[in-house]
Amino acid sequence: MAIDITLLGTGNPIPDRDRAGAATLVRAGGKTLLFDAGRGVCMRLAGAGVVPAMLDAVLLTHLHSDHICDLNDVVTTQWVMSQVERQLPIYGPPGTAEVVEGMLTMLRPDVRYRVAHHADLTWEPRPDVTEVHSGVVFEDAGVRVVAAATDHRPVEPTVGFRIECEGKSVVIAGDTVPCAGLDELCSGADIYVQTVLRDDFVRLVPMQRFQDTIDYHSTVVQAAETAKRCDVRTLVLTHQIPTPAPDAADEWTAIAREHFDGEIVFGNDLDTVSV
Ligand SMILES: [Zn+2]
Ligand SMILES: [Zn+2]
Repeated sequence: MAIDITLLGTGNPIPDRDRAGAATLVRAGGKTLLFDAGRGVCMRLAGAGVVPAMLDAVLLTHLHSDHICDLNDVVTTQWVMSQVERQLPIYGPPGTAEVVEGMLTMLRPDVRYRVAHHADLTWEPRPDVTEVHSGVVFEDAGVRVVAAATDHRPVEPTVGFRIECEGKSVVIAGDTVPCAGLDELCSGADIYVQTVLRDDFVRLVPMQRFQDTIDYHSTVVQAAETAKRCDVRTLVLTHQIPTPAPDAADEWTAIAREHFDGEIVFGNDLDTVSV
């Protein structure tokens, strides 16, 4: 297989025992790339046989807390588990440098303790941030990652990513409604991973804050329509809102099926999809 995707966290911001926060692992051409770093990401990485020191890069779709709240754990664990001084490349939309800077401030006492304690740990964590908008953001060993602007307003800027290797392609869309940038990324893709929302359920929740989420996420129907419009082969539903019942997979999949003929995967944590 050219590209393996492992869903590290398929949860939404509401904590759940079986669904970690937003994070997806992509392994292609010997590269190990982490997309988003939500709640529990290091535990789920371990479940996929990966420790943070093995990551070649972290790529962030946007700076909502449910997508970045455990980035500090990735940075710290990569640092303390590396045998030699290494940078951790982090790509994300404008604003990422500010977030990482604040995170390093939070980690300062811990860094001080560990550097003082361990004679063989002579360096500090070295996250290396590149803020990205669109175009090629990463290219190495036959693996190419392209970014494009997505639409998660009023959260902006946000980006989605297309990963290409050996003629295959996958899209990690992040939180977005259908838009031109998303279509550009998805065009002819083998796998399209979309965070999704069931507006029929969310409309029943008598709380303004819940209602607001309908505006800026793809519904299951919209994700299926994007998949069809862009001639995608496999649609992967993740980050389901609201948290689905344990036996709800068929129901969610059936809704997408009405609009898309290709393969549909209802994502659970640590599911792997390959192409
Ligand atoms: Zn978001
Ligand atoms: Zn989210």
